[in-house]
Order: sequence, then C-alpha cells, then structure tokens
Amino acid sequence: MQVHDLKNELASVIKDLKARVEFEKTFGIDVISLARQKMVKIPPPVIAHKKDAPEDSAPQAKPFNKKPSPKNDDKEKLLEDLKNETLVCHQCPLSKTRTNLVFGVGNPMAGLMFVGEAPGRDEDLQGEPFVGRAGQLLTKIIEAIGMKRSDVYIANILKCRPPGNRNPLPDEIALCIPALIKQIDIIQPKVLCALGTFAAQTLLNTKTPIGSLRGKFHDYKGIPTMATFHPAYLLRNPNEKGKVWEDMKKVRDLLKELLNK
Ligand code: SF4
Repeated sequence: MQVHDLKNELASVIKDLKARVEFEKTFGIDVISLARQKMVKIPPPVIAHKKDAPEDSAPQAKPFNKKPSPKNDDKEKLLEDLKNETLVCHQCPLSKTRTNLVFGVGNPMAGLMFVGEAPGRDEDLQGEPFVGRAGQLLTKIIEAIGMKRSDVYIANILKCRPPGNRNPLPDEIALCIPALIKQIDIIQPKVLCALGTFAAQTLLNTKTPIGSLRGKFHDYKGIPTMATFHPAYLLRNPNEKGKVWEDMKKVRDLLKELLNK
C-alpha cells in the first residue's frame, strides 16, 4: 500500500472513531462495552420480507425492486415544483393554525431519507423540520453514522403543526400523505428511516407497535426502510438510546453496501 493510501485510510479510521466517540458521548453508552462489541462481527442487516411482514401490512411491491429514479438534475426542480404546490395547501384545518408549512429539507440526491411525524413548535416557527431539541439529537445521530445533515433528506408525514403537538389525526394523515409519497418518489433514496410510531406505521401501512417494527428493514415500494424510535421519545426515555444506535449502525452498513454496488 502506498504512503498516500495509508494516510487516507488512517484519516478515514480516525474520522469514524471520532464519530463513534461523539455518538457514545451523546447517547451515554459505555465506551468500554462498545469497544468490546467492536470485536464481534456485526451481522448483515435483517430484512423483513413478505413472509414475516406484519399480518395487517398492505400488499407491497416485490421487495427492493426499485422503480427508476428521476435524473439527478431533475430532482431539484421536481422537488421545488412540489414544494411550491404544497406551500399553498389548505386541504385540512391545520392550514389555519400553522405559522409556516414545513415541506422538508436536505439533499434532493440523498441516499438516506428520514421521515418523522409532524412539525413541532420550533419547526412551525422556522419552517424547517427537526430544528428543536429533538432535531439537534437527530443531527447528532446523523453525524454519528459519519454523515452530515446536509447529506440526507428530512421530511414529515404531516407538513403542518398539529396544535399543542397533539398526535396527527387519521384524516390529516390521509390528506397530507400524497405530498410525502411524491417526495420519496422523486428522491428515491437507497434507504429510508422512519422515526417513531406514526411515521413507521403510516409508511409500512401497519398497526404493529414501533417497539416490534424497529431493528430490521421493511419494504416501502422497493426501498429498505428501517423503523426506529423518534428522537423526541429518546429525550424522554434516554435508556432506549442504545437501541437506536443499533438500528442506525444497520442503516449505515446497508447504505454503504448499496452505494458501493
Ligand atoms: S397538514 Fe398537509 S394536508 Fe393539511 S394543510 Fe398542511 S399540507 Fe395540507
């Protein structure tokens, strides 16, 4: 190996190590136990195919048989057009109480897309998803898997804030979901990550609790979809952070594999 290659390799190992330490600090995971785990080979991601899909799942497309993606140059324009169309949406009563519609943010060519539930107070005020405390935690999660927030795309099931951060209503989800479906169709990420109960149950068309959905990949129209806990839930239940770390390692590894194909 050339000295130059060795340097690059070393720089990449150090970068990875720094991200791990940052994640461990953030999540309060014992560094020594993770160092021990490092010696254990991480098993390949478990993918839930049709036979072990939840009973109430709707019929899905053949697993991971992705449709052709729009050309990269077109994605930005298509997303911009969709955003302009969505910004004037008044289909449900949430349009009357919103300060800003929160369309989504990030890289239109993203390999990884996160889907959350709905804007909260900070997001409603700023018009951007995941900017409050939960958003800061999501940014740390993204950095912990060696990526930047600007590398990924982030959107929600609902584009307008439910008053008082109440749960989304079924009618609101039904009216709003077409915009998210179009966003995913345009971006065609390699991997989707559904954050929390509403995002996971809506995308996967199931009533299975998030605690059972998380930890393995499901199929959303041919895109491997990891379900994991919402960062806001983690702020209330810090003991669950280790599970999210496990889920995110699987996301990182599968993404790396798919991008290298
Ligand atoms: S929540 Fe969705 S459907 Fe309701 S007004 Fe906002 S964009 Fe339209």
